[in-house]
Amino acid sequence: MTNIAIYPGSFDPITNGHLDIIKRASKLCDKLIVAVLVNSSKKNLFTFDERIHMIEDAISDLDNVCVKTFSGLLVDYCTENNVNAIIRGLRAVSDFEYELQMAQMNRKLEDNVETIFLTASTKYSFLSSSIVKEIARYKGNIEELVPKKACEYLVEKF
Ligand code: ADP
Repeated sequence: MTNIAIYPGSFDPITNGHLDIIKRASKLCDKLIVAVLVNSSKKNLFTFDERIHMIEDAISDLDNVCVKTFSGLLVDYCTENNVNAIIRGLRAVSDFEYELQMAQMNRKLEDNVETIFLTASTKYSFLSSSIVKEIARYKGNIEELVPKKACEYLVEKF
């Protein structure tokens, strides 16, 4: 059986914390799909194309990772694309409640798909897309927080 995992999120924009999870998760499966959520209720700063472009640039050296967009229910996408595992990152207790609820609901909807949590590396445990946008808005240094292309896009946007 080929193990296909999916790492879904808004990635508005991708950060080094996301990239760390992508690299670590890619070693646990044959193929990893980084999936940009289309029907998010969140208001995003970047368009889908921009977000995908930033991710593609950051993962270009990872052979078994690709980027896709998805809309609708994540578990339906998983069933249609033979995905066996959902990867999520946990930074702090504050992530846990929401992530647990999502994982349990997804398992109720489709029990063939497991959710796997990877804990954030300590150096990225404070990092989120929102905090990076705040820093960029006030012209702070974001070079060590996001991949190169995301840094360019953020500087351009603000
Ligand atoms: P969502 O809108 O689905 O929360 P995000 O793009 O904010 O999407 O995050 C996608 C996933 O990556 C979530 O599981 C989130 O907890 C995780 N994540 C976000 N930032 C980090 C980080 N710095 N380290 C580890 N995981 C992270």
